[in-house]
Amino acid sequence: MSMPATSTCPPPDAGRPAGWQSAAACAGLPPRIVFSKKPKEAAPALRACAVCRVRRACEEIVAPVENRFDGVCGGRLWRSGRPVAVPDHLLPPALAAIAAHLPAPGGGVRG
Ligand code: SF4
Repeated sequence: MSMPATSTCPPPDAGRPAGWQSAAACAGLPPRIVFSKKPKEAAPALRACAVCRVRRACEEIVAPVENRFDGVCGGRLWRSGRPVAVPDHLLPPALAAIAAHLPAPGGGVRG
């Protein structure tokens, strides 16, 4: 799901109360960062995810796989609903540890 440049940040939910969005660590970041498809541009949003209190809700509500989401959600970068490998130097340590256990594009596990 591509988001237009005027989309709100964090991503809009699917009809649930908007309270979770006010607690989002990425609130206030420009949409071009949150909805970027490129790891380097998305890095500030990924750093926000590392300290976000609503990370689980974000991923459940946005449902990146089902919605073929493009951008940052739940601590990962997505492109057309698939997680994108992000170089470790662009990730905060908390997310780098998680990313090491994610399937790599094309199968297998990074690391
Ligand atoms: S998990 Fe990341 S993208 Fe989702 S609301 Fe939190 S900071 Fe924003």
